[in-house]
Amino acid sequence: MKLVDTHCHLDDERYDIDREELIKKLEEKMEFVVNIGFDLPSSIKSVEYSNSYDFIYAVIGFHPTSISEYSEEAENSLRELSKNKKVVAIGEIGLDYYWMEDEKEVQKVGFRKQMKLAEELNLPVVIHSREAMADTIEILKEFPKVKGIFHCYPGSFESLSEIPEGYYFGIGGVLTFKNSKKTVEFVKKVDISRIVIETDSPYLTPTPFRGKRNEPSYVQYVLEKISEIKNIPFEEVLRITTENAKKIYGID
Ligand SMILES: [Zn+2]
Repeated sequence: MKLVDTHCHLDDERYDIDREELIKKLEEKMEFVVNIGFDLPSSIKSVEYSNSYDFIYAVIGFHPTSISEYSEEAENSLRELSKNKKVVAIGEIGLDYYWMEDEKEVQKVGFRKQMKLAEELNLPVVIHSREAMADTIEILKEFPKVKGIFHCYPGSFESLSEIPEGYYFGIGGVLTFKNSKKTVEFVKKVDISRIVIETDSPYLTPTPFRGKRNEPSYVQYVLEKISEIKNIPFEEVLRITTENAKKIYGID
């Protein structure tokens, strides 16, 4: 059975030296990968890759650290891009109070506008939230029709009940880190029907490659760790999380 990566950034400059080679290699191992935009150029690139390769899908949107670039014109560009059939969600969008490139209020306005856009286009969302859990959840609740993926879920099992039911949790390389107690605890308790697997390549490389450039096929190590934590056979973890990913992204 082939692997799935629900979140990667193959447009990142760290792939400039061997991107085509890497994609060829991935094509053999991966059922599909989803390339995630964080501003307009990366969203356009995501769509370009999805047009060039059957197994690549695109997510388009403005990351909270790029939110100052979000304008009416930019929103219309996303609308235009979303007409492409391989665009499966709006993202990654949300709040980042760690980097704080823009004021909280500015981030919230941009987040709400993109949630509204997802609702209008009937697309799910990919959420990025860093040190902003309460405000993120508050905004998600304002859009009860919208579903999505909580990427690299940073919360505890306790805050899970606050998150609307239509959301899946993206689990990645962090789970394999030595200091990942919170994520391990979360994975132990959460129902596997709400987990999807991601790498966030080129970032968050799992053990045993931590520190090196990440790549989508390394979901293997995340799957192995979940299998171990939940005591579910690897193939079963892969099968269920693949189904979850297809369901939320509307991929058949
Ligand atoms: Zn990302």
